[in-house]
Amino acid sequence: MWLLFHRNAKTRTVRGGEQFVETCPECGVRATFVEVEISNKMGLFFVDLVGETQRAYRCGACGQTFDLKDEPDAAPREAPPKSPKELERERQAAERARLEAEQAREEAARARKVAAETRAVRIEDELAELKKRMGR
Ligand SMILES: [Zn+2]
Repeated sequence: MWLLFHRNAKTRTVRGGEQFVETCPECGVRATFVEVEISNKMGLFFVDLVGETQRAYRCGACGQTFDLKDEPDAAPREAPPKSPKELERERQAAERARLEAEQAREEAARARKVAAETRAVRIEDELAELKKRMGR
């Protein structure tokens, strides 16, 4: 978000500073912007504006300097309060999940029972086979 620009500000390019290509709001040219320090009125010292929220960038086409604040959208936004409809949907989803878990438990129990019965039948068969052999 472009905030404001300094007319005729004296600037110095920050060595190793940021660079990006953006359409200049002043001259309309898609130019490379470079991170700059802006000189104070005395022109003796450079005021370091490079901070967490305030940075200055200079248009490579027209030389105009801008302050660039971080996008407000980047700030973490609080989740909007849930509507009763949403809460009801969530409650229903939880209920559905609970029923599905119950169903899965029942199926597992059934499968265990079938496996046990199969085993019992096999043992009976083996016993019958054994008896047959013993009878000989
Ligand atoms: Zn420009």
